[in-house]
Amino acid sequence: MKKSLGASLALGLAGLQFLAILLVVFSSYLTSERALIRHARDLLRDVGINTIEHSRGFLSPAQGAAELAAQLAQNSVIASEDTPLLEQLLFQQLKIAPQFAGLYYGREDGSFVYVMRTPGARGDFRSKIISVRDGQRRVEFIWRDHDFTPVARSEDPADRYDPRARPWYVKAKAERATIWTDPYIFFSSHQPGITLAAPVQQPGGGLRGVVGVDIEISMISEFLARLNIGQHGRALIINRNGDVIAHPDSSLIRARNADGSLRFAAISEIGDPIARAAFGPAALAGALPVAQETPGEFLHDGASYVSTIMPVISDKLPWTIAVYAPEDDFTGALKRNRMLNIWLAALVAGLTGLLGLALADAIYRPVRAFAVRTALVSQGELDPDAPLPRTYKELERANDALVQQIVARRKTEREYGQTFDMSSRGMAQIAPDSGRFIRVNASICHITGYSAAELSRMRLSDLVHPEDPTFVGAFFHSPAGDFSVNREMRCIRKDGSTIWITLNEILIRDESGKPLHSVLTMDDITQGKRAEAQIVQLNRDLSHLARGNTMGEMAAGLAHELNQPLAAIAQNADTALLILDQMAAKDPELRDVLIEIEGQSLRAGEIIRALRSFISKDEGAATSFDLSDLVQQTLHLIQAEAAEARVLVQIDLAPGLPPVRANRVQIAQVIVNLLRNAIEALADHPATDRRVLLAARRDDGQVRISIEDTGPGIAPGISLFSQFETSKPGGMGLGLSICRSMLAANGGALWHESRPSGGARFVFTLPVSQKVA
Ligand code: ADP
Repeated sequence: MKKSLGASLALGLAGLQFLAILLVVFSSYLTSERALIRHARDLLRDVGINTIEHSRGFLSPAQGAAELAAQLAQNSVIASEDTPLLEQLLFQQLKIAPQFAGLYYGREDGSFVYVMRTPGARGDFRSKIISVRDGQRRVEFIWRDHDFTPVARSEDPADRYDPRARPWYVKAKAERATIWTDPYIFFSSHQPGITLAAPVQQPGGGLRGVVGVDIEISMISEFLARLNIGQHGRALIINRNGDVIAHPDSSLIRARNADGSLRFAAISEIGDPIARAAFGPAALAGALPVAQETPGEFLHDGASYVSTIMPVISDKLPWTIAVYAPEDDFTGALKRNRMLNIWLAALVAGLTGLLGLALADAIYRPVRAFAVRTALVSQGELDPDAPLPRTYKELERANDALVQQIVARRKTEREYGQTFDMSSRGMAQIAPDSGRFIRVNASICHITGYSAAELSRMRLSDLVHPEDPTFVGAFFHSPAGDFSVNREMRCIRKDGSTIWITLNEILIRDESGKPLHSVLTMDDITQGKRAEAQIVQLNRDLSHLARGNTMGEMAAGLAHELNQPLAAIAQNADTALLILDQMAAKDPELRDVLIEIEGQSLRAGEIIRALRSFISKDEGAATSFDLSDLVQQTLHLIQAEAAEARVLVQIDLAPGLPPVRANRVQIAQVIVNLLRNAIEALADHPATDRRVLLAARRDDGQVRISIEDTGPGIAPGISLFSQFETSKPGGMGLGLSICRSMLAANGGALWHESRPSGGARFVFTLPVSQKVA
């Protein structure tokens, strides 16, 4: 299929555009994606560091406060055991530090002062005071407003709280140093928090009591909730035991024990499935906490995530900050952008394609106009001189070249057409496949008697005589190359008469070797054939004549031979008459007989002499002639016989043979005779090898002519050149002997040579004409 210039241009342009855009889109996508993921990691790390700083900043005042309280307690303020003063002191501390949930002091005697926040309750603060005096416990609750003014009071005699039994008290007492508890869920507020406790020593070294600070760490969760880590990223804090102690969704960190009490949810069970997937396995495998910042990535629910685990904040705060975020938060926009870009690329490619089509059309229009014009010109429907449509310079040049070619082709076609139409020979073009006449000239119509229109519906084979083998069309299947047929055959004319024609057919092929048509030339040779037939007839007559000649020769021989006996008879008869005349008893009857014998023998001698003189008159004159001409003519004489006997007669005359001098008719008879003998000798030979070769060459002052055949050779017992020696039933055995005498009379000689490969070879010589030689 031929491609359209326009479509190719449009498609090519669009395709190139599309490819170029895709290339830019993908390469920028890949580099941007890498940069963004790096950025995501940096962000997670920053979040981790930020959270650590925040947690530190959040908790360090607590330590200061607890230690300050412990100092004060150690001093007389608390040592005085002035509970109201102590309460006030704790109240002031609580007011200063918003992250403190409560401050308290427990003594060794079991008394306890506890100030805590109670936002939204009767006052903003509430104090719980357990006093022990004379073995009597009193538990009092005092609600106060912001200014420490009491708002309400109550007592609870049923309260059994004992600070000394609490873990913070036990631990601080045991370690005699400031201790941090692990985070836990505060009993009263249900908020997560930690407790800091510092021992208060007696001057002697004994323990007076323990100061404690409750710090709510839910604010850390609030801080985490405020962080922006991509769109869906989260940071959480995992305690060293695997508990999640801070999470942006603080409701997730609480879990219930079997007894209904609250505890932290472990990372492996938390209601944040992504956090579970990200950090649960590491926690379960005991890989937490990590020694150094550990970036990671994981798949959850078909989406890719990046994560970072930070090392613990400090020994006192063995908390791990873990951060995760979906990759999509960073690269999602990029991916969407990429899709958009691909669509844009397709759109641009489409538009470019359309543009290309329009452009191609604009470029192609003059080319098309030119192509149409060229087609019209070559079909002859438009004059080559007709004005050229507006087109390109290159096309104009092409047009000039084309027009020149068309003019030249027309000229050639016209000349060929004239040669074809006006030729005196019959000419035709024949279709390769059907064998039908495509084009015929007037002469072929004249030869066949059919009109051109009638012939156009016929095949050559329709004209061929039914007895002549048809070969027409066979050569179309022959191997590539020129092929020509040249032969004589008979045709039936339209009027039913039979004519002889010579047919010459040449196959014309295109550049690829495909047969286009064949060109046929036809000549009517009926006249020539008729002349040939006449020659054959004449030849027959000549043959008769030759036989007559042979008889003459025989007569000559006979005359020569019979002359003596006849003369002897006449003489003897004469002598007998003389004897009879001298005898006494003359027998007149015997005398008559003898006279008759003498008379008749003389008469016979007369007849023979007359015959000899008649024969000797036929000697003919010697002339100088060209041997090859004579050979051609004798061939004409013998051709019919040879063809009938299916014998191939080959001629091999050396070039530049000189003329010979002899009796032309007699030499013709010799050649005919020798050829005929050879043809006759081949009669019983296999038809495939019936060959006769006539060769001539110069040999000293003579020309040597040989006639040889592939026949059986001379039959044994035959004495050649002897009169009446023959091997043929109807033969006379005179031919060779006469030939030899005729050649001898002409200064030549005739002999036989046997052929090494079998067959006979007769050789004769003739003198070269003195005029030339
Ligand atoms: P005729 O042809 O009447 O027999 P010829 O004198 O021409 O008389 O030939 C004598 C014989 O010589 C032939 O009968 C034939 O046996 C033999 N002869 C002549 N020419 C050839 C030949 N070319 N091949 C074989 N035998 C030949």
